[in-house]
Amino acid sequence: SDLASKVSSTLRDVPDFPKEGIIFKDITPVLADGMLFREIIEAWRQRYASQNISAIVGIESRGFIFGAALAHALGVGLTLVRKPGKLPYSRIGVDYTLEYGTDRVEMHTDALAPGERVVVVDDLLATGGTCGATVALVQQLGGVVVECAFLVELGFLEGAKRLHGVPHHALTVF
Ligand code: 5GP
Repeated sequence: SDLASKVSSTLRDVPDFPKEGIIFKDITPVLADGMLFREIIEAWRQRYASQNISAIVGIESRGFIFGAALAHALGVGLTLVRKPGKLPYSRIGVDYTLEYGTDRVEMHTDALAPGERVVVVDDLLATGGTCGATVALVQQLGGVVVECAFLVELGFLEGAKRLHGVPHHALTVF
């Protein structure tokens, strides 16, 4: 689509970040384009407006940016999924494996009520470890993940297979 091609042509490939051999998709040029940022959020608002969504779950840290804008557009709450040691209140966590080692995401225990229908938002789906752990967190609190939404999906990494069978949507797929 028009929006997909605008997003993919606005993203910037940064070689050797954060380490040698990795080509990082930099989303900051998308944020800098105010009309494009608005179009993305408007497209997602339309996609989820009739889905009975009661909260957006934003994944630290770029997922906070797009998640906050979408929550505002839909008029629903924003729930934060954060790296360990950041959330102040009572929390639950899920560990997930990386290529080398493990990582963890956390959420406040009162962040969602059982039965709440949510959209999980992040900027990019790579191996799916982060978002898969987030889906597990939401489900531990009794929430229902209607869909996981991304700007970018690195399809060749097959991260969608780690999302516990919940649907996902990406504006652009590489
Ligand atoms: P995964 O857990 O799917 O392997 O990695 C996805 C997470 O890492 C997301 O939170 C995303 O923000 C970040 N990430 C990994 N690679 C990239 C990249 O190339 N560009 C951006 N913007 N984020 C990335």
